[in-house]
Amino acid sequence: MSAALAYIIYFFTYGNLFQAEDMLPVLLTNVKEIKSYLDGQIKKSLLFSAVAGFLVLVLAGVALVWVDRDAASNGWTAKSLIVTLISVAIMIKYAMNCFPLREIRLARKSIREMKKARTVHADNLAHRFKAELTGKPDGNIFLIIGESANRDHMKALNPEYPRDTTPWQSEVKNREGFFFFPKAYACFTQTAQTVSWMLTGLNQYTHQSPDYLVTLIDAARVAGYTTWWCTNHKGNDYLTGYIMNSADKVVEVPALTGDDAQLLDVMDTIPEEGNHLVILHIMGSHLRYGDRYPPDFPAVQGDNKRISEYDTSIAYTDDILRRIWEKAEKKQQASVIMYVSDHGEDMKYTHGTGHFSFDMTRIPLWIYLSPSYRQKHKDRAEALRRHQDCVFTNDLVFDTLCGLMQVSSYGSEDRFDLSHNAYGLSWDSALTMHGKVHVAEDVQ
Ligand SMILES: [Zn+2]
Repeated sequence: MSAALAYIIYFFTYGNLFQAEDMLPVLLTNVKEIKSYLDGQIKKSLLFSAVAGFLVLVLAGVALVWVDRDAASNGWTAKSLIVTLISVAIMIKYAMNCFPLREIRLARKSIREMKKARTVHADNLAHRFKAELTGKPDGNIFLIIGESANRDHMKALNPEYPRDTTPWQSEVKNREGFFFFPKAYACFTQTAQTVSWMLTGLNQYTHQSPDYLVTLIDAARVAGYTTWWCTNHKGNDYLTGYIMNSADKVVEVPALTGDDAQLLDVMDTIPEEGNHLVILHIMGSHLRYGDRYPPDFPAVQGDNKRISEYDTSIAYTDDILRRIWEKAEKKQQASVIMYVSDHGEDMKYTHGTGHFSFDMTRIPLWIYLSPSYRQKHKDRAEALRRHQDCVFTNDLVFDTLCGLMQVSSYGSEDRFDLSHNAYGLSWDSALTMHGKVHVAEDVQ
């Protein structure tokens, strides 16, 4: 009964059926994140009525059993025992295939498969991974992974947006060295599933096989970079957690899921010597939007409170990106800086698989190349410029960064590398939802 009630709440909130993938964040994240996830998605009044309704049903059930007990003073008859046993068996059988047990079972299976990935990865590294350096390491490379950023809400990528949510990005967009890609899409609509494909040779087109489970960290090591994973997210058991822990240096900010500005202090710990690949995983615009910026940050006025808070989180991220860029470019010999979000956000259905919408997949992507990098690699800068209007999906971040790091391996392909002349993802072939949805269905 409680399962049915919970499902009904979900159905009316999302207007769709619950998917196993949506159980993953619940099983993987911690209590605080689940609380903000629920707070952001289910109205408190609805939650209260559901809990109250459930309690009434339990009390009614207890009362019925009590009344029945008095009536049947002769105890159990053989007939009632058989009926009860059959009913219990049927309930157990169906409960296993009903919400939420079915979803928990499927999500657990998915976690088991991801744990198996460790063995597969070790085997791939030992037997398949061959990487070739086509150049020397050059300065430091920064990859900023955004969170729940929808490019439609960013004026720099959607000039028609009525509110100026990205003053800094709008200013630098046409500056030399910056390349903005207004037609980038997420390969899935949840963090774990996008980030893991973004940072491995796995993609939706030619590399679905686990044989391509080699990571950006593996490639960066071959290219001579020390690898850093600096995060404002809590760790998890999924493939992303595994990739994170394979970095040479893993640094969590002191107050996890708090202010993204903490990552600026972490950047100060990166030594001047050597070459570094630095992954910065920000909280960006994760639910609850109002928690993503300091209280004194100027609010962006929106059509309603939710949109206003979301847009303010986008504006705060714009300021964080400015500060990260200034530090990386001026003090930390950045040669390449890439900003890409994991997935987008729908103002009604947030993100997940309950009610798919393209708002959940339209993501920001830009790349900055330093003057010396552009000087040395004119062909790459030229290719990025030429491909600015091309469609892109973020499972190809791996191929593009491998290209920019001058390392080619069996996990990456030139035709998926935005900085290569051969880049050729077309609208007809571009996919999302791990290959299940054609991006061309999104009317541009
Ligand atoms: Zn996310």
